[in-house]
Amino acid sequence: MSGLKRFFVPSVGAETVLDGEEFEHAKNVLRLGVGAEVVLLDNSGIEYTAVVASVEKKRMLLNLVREEVGKREAKTDMMLLFGYLKNADKNEFIVQKAVELGVNKIGVFSSEFSSAYMSENKLERLNKVAKEATKQCLRAVAPEIVYYENLESALRSATEYANKLFACEFATKSSVDLAELCGSTAMVVGSEGGFSRKEEELANGLGFASVTLGKRILRAETAAVALTAVVAFSLGEWQ
Ligand code: SAM
Repeated sequence: MSGLKRFFVPSVGAETVLDGEEFEHAKNVLRLGVGAEVVLLDNSGIEYTAVVASVEKKRMLLNLVREEVGKREAKTDMMLLFGYLKNADKNEFIVQKAVELGVNKIGVFSSEFSSAYMSENKLERLNKVAKEATKQCLRAVAPEIVYYENLESALRSATEYANKLFACEFATKSSVDLAELCGSTAMVVGSEGGFSRKEEELANGLGFASVTLGKRILRAETAAVALTAVVAFSLGEWQ
């Protein structure tokens, strides 16, 4: 199953149509033809194996062969909330790595020291990156990328999480032991400009524990990936 190419479709039936960009990629880049076996994903977590039955000008028809529950989703809910960065590539890098590390909710926010602003196109692009990363790492569910206009609304989206971690560049110690996490975990990482003391107080007031990632100042993309990796390891995702 893992060697088969993966494609997202709105829904899967006994016969499924592959069209649009996914069709163009399958036909013109991967040169898939009749008889080729692929995996179809409808973001339900099920992996549908299907065979190309016919190839037309603008679409392919595929027949369902079998289905099984994907085995690569994280056992524990992890959410990453990060401050939107000026450099588009770095935002995409964070999304791609978070997907690979098993994160199942991703939020991007603007905060006091943000100097980059979101647009519909940019958000659509980040969701596309999440889907591509999902296929590449053989997951079956692509996290949706959600935009929050301010830090408070991002923080409030994590109310239900058992662990709420606020990566704070001016914290001198962590108020939770990152090596002993258990249960759903939300992580917050600032943009290039970092956080203000007021923002840390807001986060602490909403149940977030300030955590330090050591005595060096990490780039936002380094901090986001490093913290996500540590949390995934601590939650047993690497066993
Ligand atoms: N403008 C800040 C400064 O110069 O102090 C740096 C912000 S840093 C580039 C971006 C984000 O990464 C921070 O807001 C924080 O969330 C995280 N971060 C970087 N280094 C960290 C550290 N040593 N401990 C905790 N978080 C850190």
